[in-house]
Amino acid sequence: MKKIVIISGKGGTGKTTMAANFIKIAHGHVAIDCDVDAANLYILLDPSIKKKETFISGAKAKVTGDCINCGKCEELCRFEAITDSVTDIKIDKLKCESCGICVYVCPTKAIEHKDEKQGEYYISDTKHCSFVHARLDPGAENSGLLVTKIRNVSEDIAYRQDKKLIIIDGAPGIGCSVIASLNGVDYALIVTEPTISAISDFKKIYEVAGFFNIESLVCINKFDINLDNTAEIEKFCASNNLEVLGKIPYDENVPRYLADKKFIIDNACSPAATEIKNIWQKLEKYLYE
Ligand code: SF4
Ligand code: SF4
Repeated sequence: MKKIVIISGKGGTGKTTMAANFIKIAHGHVAIDCDVDAANLYILLDPSIKKKETFISGAKAKVTGDCINCGKCEELCRFEAITDSVTDIKIDKLKCESCGICVYVCPTKAIEHKDEKQGEYYISDTKHCSFVHARLDPGAENSGLLVTKIRNVSEDIAYRQDKKLIIIDGAPGIGCSVIASLNGVDYALIVTEPTISAISDFKKIYEVAGFFNIESLVCINKFDINLDNTAEIEKFCASNNLEVLGKIPYDENVPRYLADKKFIIDNACSPAATEIKNIWQKLEKYLYE
């Protein structure tokens, strides 16, 4: 089974649009959206949800019983997650490393150490393939763990359905959810555009992919909005032996199609659609051989 993740290092480069169109063109695949903080691939894929599961994680310490303000927990928490234990105890969830010492030492058993609901994930049918996506609760942590969870779920589905390809819309940025999106994939298709910030993010995400020994491929979206910057991207790719699979022209049809929840590849007159199809043809050689 091959796995490809489509990433960008930042939002707004057209990554999800590319992923959605590839998901429509591909065959024998399962799709997954790893942007668990702000999933939006489902808008185009229009899934019919078959199963909804709660994502439980966390295991952060929490005061649920009667605290007698003895201060023992604060004294022994080596992560400095507990403050004001002799007046009005507070536990900083961001600092808590779930070691459980405070639970153990508390004389009144006032602290609990329970996993909590952190979000939900969904297994759906679409017209094109099975689709897994998720939603992290507001303020919840562990986006990397949720991505790992849905990656595992999508692999189970692919094995059960005898599918040979998983297309992953990666999380934006370069944080832990992106690393979880990249883990164990065969290829990372980096979607970038010729702006200074996108080029900087492209180079960062290329380094992250390289750290995990993942082969990167590149496509440049809206390449004609700045030909000098496009040339800089191509030069960087050439010097790093990175294949540029295609350059998509700016196309005023794309925002309109997205607003209408349509796939740009269905527009026969769109220059962007032609190039996206060309890129997919090149990708197929990597994914189906
Ligand atoms: S579980 Fe460990 S890290 Fe968290 S508050 Fe308790 S002692 Fe500190
Ligand atoms: S050890 Fe228990 S009783 Fe003592 S301060 Fe901490 S929570 Fe309160």
